[in-house]
Amino acid sequence: MSTDTEVIIAGGGPVGLAAAISLARDGREVTVIERVPEAILAKPAFDGREIALTHHASNWLKSVGAWEYIPTSAISPMHAARIESGHAPDRRNVLTFHAPEQGPDALGHLVANHLIRSALYRVARETPRVTIRTGQGINAAKSSRRAASIILENDLRLSGQLLIAADGRFSRIRQMKGIGAVIHDFKRNILVCRMRHTVPHERTALQWFDEGQTIALLPVADDGHGGALSSLVLTLPPDEIERLRNLDEATFNADITRRTQGRAGPMTLESARCVYPLKAVYAHRFRAERLALIGDAAVGMHPITAHGFNLGLKGQETLARAIADGSGDAGDPDALRRFERQHRIATAPLFAATNGIATVYTHDAAPVLALRRAGLGVAQGLMPFKRFVTGLLMDRNRSI
Ligand SMILES: Cc1cc2nc3c(=O)[nH]c(=O)nc-3n(C[C@H](O)[C@H](O)[C@H](O)COP(=O)(O)OP(=O)(O)OC[C@H]3O[C@@H](n4cnc5c(N)ncnc54)[C@H](O)[C@@H]3O)c2cc1C
Repeated sequence: MSTDTEVIIAGGGPVGLAAAISLARDGREVTVIERVPEAILAKPAFDGREIALTHHASNWLKSVGAWEYIPTSAISPMHAARIESGHAPDRRNVLTFHAPEQGPDALGHLVANHLIRSALYRVARETPRVTIRTGQGINAAKSSRRAASIILENDLRLSGQLLIAADGRFSRIRQMKGIGAVIHDFKRNILVCRMRHTVPHERTALQWFDEGQTIALLPVADDGHGGALSSLVLTLPPDEIERLRNLDEATFNADITRRTQGRAGPMTLESARCVYPLKAVYAHRFRAERLALIGDAAVGMHPITAHGFNLGLKGQETLARAIADGSGDAGDPDALRRFERQHRIATAPLFAATNGIATVYTHDAAPVLALRRAGLGVAQGLMPFKRFVTGLLMDRNRSI
């Protein structure tokens, strides 16, 4: 078989870069193809996403040296999480989670997505056997029993033993290879931005299922003057999000202060306003001949349970381990089968549960509201349930 490289990775997002690092550390020659220019990949702009990293994810980033490229001041520990339901939440419809007294003092750590991306890019650049080709998208992809190959927008051809699709939740590779996906359209958009406020957040993340809107406030930094910075994650119908995105700053600040009922004090915008459509995606298959799907191309989660990147990291670890344990051929069908089976087991229940929570907590019909209230009240009293969810949020397992 004549190939230019062993593994081709389509997409230099955080999961594609992580996969390149893992496979190259296992001795593979890897080429990453990313359509954005190198300057943008090396220094991506703030994109509004604040990633709640589990301990498993931050340990992985430490193990490959990416953690040290993230400024310490940009890593925000999350000590507690608070879930509320209804317009005037009281004790009966509040659920709280704290890091256990024994062990790490944080449930997890918040880090801005663009900083994770630039740290992974630096590590990938320094890793022997990784080549990164930027500024060219992939126009065609083929894979057969003998080899995988791609054609770039500039007609350059590249072949390898394995093609990995890491090109995001609307993956073109997935479409080109005729792999379908379950797409759950929540018919809502998310607006994300950083807001400064006067009431300290005490390192507590708030997820508030209000009537008619869903608000999350994620503690991203203290401001050193008794106030704080939080990431606002606001979910509303697309036209309402568009209206808010286009408001002048003063009106926007007043609107958000009112929506949050002044609980964090007056709020002022501190960043660009970024908007994402709420569509969850689960690919029908995670593999084909000499092809594997990872990251959002395989499982694009609703962000409410903050697991998209965390699961993406685990998926690339699972794939690298399956290949390392295989026949030596990176496209070994048995290895791809093992990867698919394990990654499905790791993701399918969480994907279904996340969509269920997102659906129940964004519908405001009276019976659903009552169910929500009762649900949180009961869950707050169930210690085994709370321990289970805390474990899921923290994910302290080192192994996959
Ligand atoms: C608002 C929000 C909050 C989130 N919060 C969390 C959280 O708290 N915790 C968590 O774990 N996850 C979170 N996520 C999810 C997380 O951001 C994603 O799971 C993660 O970014 C997926 O990474 P990826 O590399 O698979 O895909 P992407 O980040 O989408 O990267 C795909 C890459 O492929 C490139 N590409 C696409 N097509 C082509 C092509 N044809 N040729 C070449 N290159 C191509 C793109 O340019 C891009 O660089 C959140 C998501 C959102 C929207």
